Amino acid sequence: MQLEGLLEKLKMDHLGAQLESVCEQASKRELAYKEFLTEALSVEWNGRHLRGVEGRLRQARLPMVKTIEQFDFSFQPSIDRKVIRELSGLGFVGRAENVVLLGPPGVGKTHLAIALGVKAIEAGHRVLFLTLENLLSRLTRAKRENRLERQLQQFVYPKVLLLDEMGYLPMNREEASLFFRLLCRRYEKASIIVTSNKSFVDWGEIFGDQVLATAILDRLLHHSTTINIKGESYRLREKRRAGMLSRGRKEEEEKTAEKPEPATPAQQEPESDENRTS
Ligand code: ADP
Ligand code: MG
Repeated sequence: MQLEGLLEKLKMDHLGAQLESVCEQASKRELAYKEFLTEALSVEWNGRHLRGVEGRLRQARLPMVKTIEQFDFSFQPSIDRKVIRELSGLGFVGRAENVVLLGPPGVGKTHLAIALGVKAIEAGHRVLFLTLENLLSRLTRAKRENRLERQLQQFVYPKVLLLDEMGYLPMNREEASLFFRLLCRRYEKASIIVTSNKSFVDWGEIFGDQVLATAILDRLLHHSTTINIKGESYRLREKRRAGMLSRGRKEEEEKTAEKPEPATPAQQEPESDENRTS
């Protein structure tokens, strides 16, 4: 059989596409047989890996791609870099543990959650990003349409579920109990990364029921890492740098801008991409 035919039968598309240049390089560099085979198979492997990452990135429905490397830790000294480094190693995903990122708007909660999600995607895990609002509306709709089980399964399937903006909107009883069901299904099986602008003591308010809130916190925090970010908004820093906030009015502006953010993109001021995606 011809080489091209063999590669096609073996579904080695990436090597097939780069065959000429791989062979040319090998002869230029006078590679030994084993070295050549390693090079050739690496081309195929890298191509497959990249395709896998791209597919999982699409499936994750991230609002944007952010990485740990893009995060300026010197701007946020309350974050322990060691903890982030440890999380980046993804041991928590293997152990099906959760991560909770707490802090006021603009301190990088969503950025870090996404960045950990991207790490997980690169390592071959399935990831799904949802705002809490989105999650709850999909669960309630599924329940109304008698397909809750199927919907729950979809949300249990990803190895890492990113739940953004817990606490911007309070939940009603039905929503809280649906959320609890999801949590129980994922408990000790798959990880959740959640961001919230509310501290744990205020979570009772989010769920509208102290008993349910306690049960939710119990499941979520049993195996988890909490990162409490106490710092300044990165968005405001950027604005200040751009001269959009004058020095004298700084505190006043900050007070206004640091109010809990609107929950739906439609309600937000169309200032920049950064602001729209929080
Ligand atoms: P939060 O979710 O806490 O409201 P975001 O993660 O949405 O904040 O951050 C707001 C914007 O600022 C995003 O574009 C994010 O990438 C950026 N950002 C926040 N903190 C940092 C940081 N320490 N270094 C680099 N970019 C940051
Ligand atoms: Mg956010």
